[in-house]
Amino acid sequence: MGKQLQAIRGMNDILPEQTPAWQYLEQQVRSVLGTYGYQEIRVPIAESSALFSRGIGTGTDIVEKEMYTFEDRNGEKLSLRPEATASIVRAGIQNGLLYNQIQRLWTSGPMFRYERPQKGRYRQFHQISVEAYGMVGPDIDAELILMTARLWQQLGLTEHVTLELNTLGTQESRLRYREALVAYLSQYEADLDEDSRRRLTINPLRILDSKDAGTQKIVADAPELFDYLDEESRNHFEDLKKVLDEAGVSYRVNTKLVRGLDYYGCTVFEWITESLGSQGTVCAGGRYDALVEMLGGKPTAGVGFAMGMERLILMLETLQLLPETVNNQVDVTVVAVGDGIGNKALPVVERLRDALPQFKILMNCGGGGFKAQMKRADRSGAKYALIIGEDELQAGTATIKSLRADEAQQQLPLSEVAGFLKSILQ
Ligand code: ATP
Ligand code: MG
Repeated sequence: MGKQLQAIRGMNDILPEQTPAWQYLEQQVRSVLGTYGYQEIRVPIAESSALFSRGIGTGTDIVEKEMYTFEDRNGEKLSLRPEATASIVRAGIQNGLLYNQIQRLWTSGPMFRYERPQKGRYRQFHQISVEAYGMVGPDIDAELILMTARLWQQLGLTEHVTLELNTLGTQESRLRYREALVAYLSQYEADLDEDSRRRLTINPLRILDSKDAGTQKIVADAPELFDYLDEESRNHFEDLKKVLDEAGVSYRVNTKLVRGLDYYGCTVFEWITESLGSQGTVCAGGRYDALVEMLGGKPTAGVGFAMGMERLILMLETLQLLPETVNNQVDVTVVAVGDGIGNKALPVVERLRDALPQFKILMNCGGGGFKAQMKRADRSGAKYALIIGEDELQAGTATIKSLRADEAQQQLPLSEVAGFLKSILQ
């Protein structure tokens, strides 16, 4: 026997007992996105590595340490996507979807980052990524946020998440701020953590986001980006806050909030929860008006966010917010006893499915004695067993037995089975 193979660390199987929760979450997200007029786009899982280093930025954790990069057989350098925004922009430019157009897009699927696996942090994880193009005002920033707020409402998560908001201003204001920040941090260079010391020259704004306690102390007294904002950025931010106020969505302005990707400017936001421990960000995004041009397109405004599906699933499970109907339970299991009876029962069951398309009916295939089949029926979680035997089939009848309640079993003509099941299952 060959040695048993294991999945790669941090890349998880999502097992049948877990998939109903995933389907539920995905379906909720899809339906909200649909009602706001967002359209699905699907992009490849691998792209040329240059797309991500150019798009996300060479000084970022993602590009520096987290990408799965390899050469294909042709010697081309490819990466598994660590996020979807760069790919969507690439697809938009390549297919002429962006220039002079308004687009509201979303995609979902696995992303890959070489991180230290832990609860809420994996090497293959799933995001739903939502992007809007061609709209410069704060209204679209607000729409995206209101849409997520509606989703939390539908999922019962509203009380468990908070919105953090910041603005990174225009590129000019960020440059002026950068100078001031570097001047301040350079005084404490020796006390910064190693990553931050390195970032001092390549990507100093990321130091604001450092998780190192010593660095955090230094950062606490750093100059605030807010004081360097130009009027345009200020107005954009004020208008966004006004919409959120009027719509009744509460938020906390966090002037230290920067995002882990270089392409963001102007609005940035994160939805954070305390119910997951340290992996607390469930949804994050912001405005990235420079990205389309950086990737070779004509200047086009962009704003978007990505939700971490594993973290949302963990929340729904931990907080017990999954509706009772979210399970693999079948309604009826068909027990067919007798030699070769399975084959004869199948057409009968097909007619039953015609009449009861709304119910899950599980056919016992593969034979087995009555007792074994009843045990299987019980394990299926079905509410009722439909028992079909040789004699019954001859007589054109079947027996319905409750597997959960103390009800008398019923023998009925086949023509009445569907109607009866319908009446007891609804
Ligand atoms: P973090 O600070 O937690 O590393 P991030 O800023 O790297 O997050 P983004 O790139 O903004 O994350 O991705 C958006 C969302 O995707 C995150 O808020 C999170 O919910 C989820 N996410 C990111 N990385 C992972 C991962 N390795 N495993 C599971 N979910 C993740
Ligand atoms: Mg990260």
